[in-house]
Amino acid sequence: MSKDAIITKVAGPLVVAKGMSNAKMFEVVKVSKEKLIGEVIELHGEEASIQVYEETSGIGPGEPVELTGLTLSVELAPGLLTSIYDGIQRPLELIEKEAGSPFMTRGIEVPGISRSAKWDFTATAKVGDQVSGGDILGTVPETTLIEHKVMVPPNMSGVITEIKSGNFVIEDTVAVIKTADGEEKIAMLQKWPIRIPRPTKGKLMPNQPLVTGMRVLDTLFPVAQGGAGAIPGPFGAGKTVTQQSLAKYCNAQVIVYIGCGERGNEMTEVLTEFPHLKDPSSGEPLMKRTIMIANTSNMPVAAREASVYTGITIAEYYRDMGYDVALMADSTSRWAEAMREMSGRLEEMPGEEGYPAYLGSRTAGFYERAGIVECLGNDSRKGSLSVIGAVSPPGGDFSEPVTQNTLRVTKVFWALDAKLAYKRHFPAINWLQSYTLYADNLEGWFAKEIAEDFPENRRLTQKILQDESKLEEIVRLVGMDALSPKEQLTMETARMIREDFLFQNGFDPVDAYSSLNKQYRLLKSILTFMDVAESKVVEEDFDFKKLQSLPVKEDIAQSSFCAEEDVDATFDKIDEAIRSQISAL
Ligand code: ADP
Repeated sequence: MSKDAIITKVAGPLVVAKGMSNAKMFEVVKVSKEKLIGEVIELHGEEASIQVYEETSGIGPGEPVELTGLTLSVELAPGLLTSIYDGIQRPLELIEKEAGSPFMTRGIEVPGISRSAKWDFTATAKVGDQVSGGDILGTVPETTLIEHKVMVPPNMSGVITEIKSGNFVIEDTVAVIKTADGEEKIAMLQKWPIRIPRPTKGKLMPNQPLVTGMRVLDTLFPVAQGGAGAIPGPFGAGKTVTQQSLAKYCNAQVIVYIGCGERGNEMTEVLTEFPHLKDPSSGEPLMKRTIMIANTSNMPVAAREASVYTGITIAEYYRDMGYDVALMADSTSRWAEAMREMSGRLEEMPGEEGYPAYLGSRTAGFYERAGIVECLGNDSRKGSLSVIGAVSPPGGDFSEPVTQNTLRVTKVFWALDAKLAYKRHFPAINWLQSYTLYADNLEGWFAKEIAEDFPENRRLTQKILQDESKLEEIVRLVGMDALSPKEQLTMETARMIREDFLFQNGFDPVDAYSSLNKQYRLLKSILTFMDVAESKVVEEDFDFKKLQSLPVKEDIAQSSFCAEEDVDATFDKIDEAIRSQISAL
């Protein structure tokens, strides 16, 4: 204990204290008589800079600082799912109840996970088993959707001397392991420091898609399960709608949603909407497999800095159980701004646009925690953590530092486009700017699981869209008549791809999610239309208007609304109509 640790300076979320020679980097401290939670982020001899996760107004020099000896950690145990936390894992509901308001929450100590809730622990390991980090000791039905696995903490090994099934609170001992350093009691509750990635046996090559049900994403710009992607876009372009749609429909089993609101009320919207969302596959509340971290901009800036680490550590924990986990962060620009503010207060040398020089390495450090991994443990299970970060570049300018640093480390770029949103083309993802570097890795999967020509159709579609953008230039200069019949057909096909395939209404209960088979069949029909029409359009005096007004075109336009069980029948009929109607022209 260092009794004379006292505050010498307070600058917003940054507090400087002396008498801190016993402190460690990243140690959690209690600041002032109000015991505000802070973290040591710089140490020079006996002087420490502390980032404080609560409002510091009213505290001043001379007040005490108390060391805790702990690093900033998250609590991991059954009870995480369905929770809504602030940036340092305090349940929002509890701090509001305790303080009577979401804005007066200083110095409140509330546990991240309930200490009184009881859980049914079923031991799956037995006395005498030789175990090491990651081995599963037992399971708990955490929600009706997810079974929680209680694991031997990483870095521990030994022989089980006691283990029991039963109904326990999370601090009860469920097993005892005899290690080289003595007996260790294992409870369901474990902790992990948020700034250190949880260990695994190693990363594997991502080779399966994170299926999202959004046609433009899955077919044209797929992200792998265990991959990292960025959605940059200006205000109002659809970042939040896209992230929520991913949370709802993507084929991950556990969702961690980190909201860093632009404004307080925006986050409130997410907070009120999310708990009402239903999991489409089970009909149960989506929250039963979700953890939310919410930072509104009226919460202290430092808590925002910590929130992405809190979120990703919880996500890694479920990955380690062998689940496919998806983490959405909306928006990471607010996180970068929090970093910039702290760095400014520390009087560090600013880099580009005032962001700290370490913006790039911190961003990389965050996204590198994504991956498909072989989990610790003796059952060679795999888990994955996919990370999708929204970025909100000021003015939609993708050349700014946060977007650029993000693109350097994510392999998928879904570029939201204000012009498309303005034209009400949703999802407003620009098909010429966006890219994915997972396409090669995933082709094999698509060809095997969906259709052999899936990859080929994807390439052809991209070519048609690129050709359209070139031909548009010509049309703008000299008009449609200057195009050859084949070029006119390309333009027509591109329009069908855009309007009937890429356009997808995120609010329509049927259209919001397209299975991969539906995506394949719909695109294939459009390409078939082009293929069949190709020999027709070169006939002399071919009337393009007739082709454009064929009834089957309307069928294609409506086909994305067909029920999943009718997909094959619907598109078989459409393909037949394409052939008969075009040949009758
Ligand atoms: P951002 O988070 O980028 O500021 P939002 O996600 O809030 O933008 O989207 C703004 C608006 O655009 C939404 O309220 C909605 O009306 C519309 N929108 C966005 N994406 C879609 C979509 N996929 N389908 C239908 N409408 C959409």
